[in-house]
Amino acid sequence: MNSQVTVANVAEIRKQFPVLNQQVNGRNLVYFDNAATTQKPLRVINALIEYYTGYNANIHRGIHTLAERATRAYEETRQAAKDFINANFAEEIIFVRGVTEAINLVASSYGRTFLQLGDEVIISGLEHHSNIVPWQLVCEERRAYLKIIPVLENGELDLDAYQKLLTRQTKIVAVNHASNSLGTINPIKEIIDLAHQAGAVVLIDGAQAGAHLPIDVQQLDCDFYCLSSHKMYGPTGTGILYGKREVLEKMPPYQGGGEMIKEVTFAKTTYNDLPHKFEAGTPNIADTIAFKSAIDFINEIGKENIAAHESTLLAYATEKAGALPGVRIIGQAPHKVSVLSFIIDDIHPFDIGQMLDARGIAVRTGHHCTQPLMDQFGVEGTVRASFAVYNTKDEIDHMMEGLTRIINFMK
Ligand code: PMP
Repeated sequence: MNSQVTVANVAEIRKQFPVLNQQVNGRNLVYFDNAATTQKPLRVINALIEYYTGYNANIHRGIHTLAERATRAYEETRQAAKDFINANFAEEIIFVRGVTEAINLVASSYGRTFLQLGDEVIISGLEHHSNIVPWQLVCEERRAYLKIIPVLENGELDLDAYQKLLTRQTKIVAVNHASNSLGTINPIKEIIDLAHQAGAVVLIDGAQAGAHLPIDVQQLDCDFYCLSSHKMYGPTGTGILYGKREVLEKMPPYQGGGEMIKEVTFAKTTYNDLPHKFEAGTPNIADTIAFKSAIDFINEIGKENIAAHESTLLAYATEKAGALPGVRIIGQAPHKVSVLSFIIDDIHPFDIGQMLDARGIAVRTGHHCTQPLMDQFGVEGTVRASFAVYNTKDEIDHMMEGLTRIINFMK
């Protein structure tokens, strides 16, 4: 396909998402909760059905035909993921449950091994709880310090402050590529280069970038990069941790069990090669196989086309929302993924969410797993509308109509 996403082909694209074609509370569904999870195209759903109806088998160990077919399909996803982020080697792609598990893997394995008393880990004020709590846990255990890059009023990171935080004790820097709460796209290349100059390794949480931004881990030169399939039109329960081969090789296994070993005796166990060293037990085979169909879906439309369509939607929604009385948009960075976070005067975000739901419009309300960030903006939570390739300006108009009614009703 690889053509511009236009109004005409958005209609075609929507046909690939059966879930969108339904009424919720008597209205056509408007799905604006894409930053939480995207909907899945038919090809992803069919890949799951094909696996379970055609070649369900455990992978890697079997020599029978179904096991070989399942193993091949599973490894094809690894190859597709490698190409998707331009990794050097397929064994640098570790399958995990998603970004949360990827970060916990690195914090446990790398963090516990290489953090010493008094060392420092730097994260940012824009992080999701899953890029905060694993570092708190390991810092507490290793008696290391957790330092936070401050967030400016417009939702961008304070890079001058970041430079001052970097010291010879900094061992790990972990930041997101894009913020799920505000949409801010972070200057990760600069962040990575500065961290490397200080001798630290860098983990990038790509949860909000996977379906929206170009990712080239060789060009970025990051040490780790994490993705969740379910935010990229793929199934839940699978995702990847990319790690540079030389860094992964230095790290001990994260979990013990089948598949991650070469040889087990009661006296000593030797570990398998990458990537299997980090893939203990039977993985999420079906969803990982179907993840490839999601990657193909994104590649065929073209990420740049998806991004262009979404930024048109974001600009339109930002302008319309900004013109409504009492609306305060939280997060106004110049470079954003398609996330519109806002509050309206004294109306509680939950009330707005419920009233929009009554009109068939799905948005997210609350702290978006970024409580420290909400604290900084002095709000308990926001209303968040996040757009995907299948959304339209008409749908934004519906939301604006809904918001106008809510504002008038609450006056
Ligand atoms: N980081 C960011 C920026 C996110 O948006 C999310 C999901 N909301 C996560 C991490 C966690 O991803 P998952 O729940 O798929 O593990």
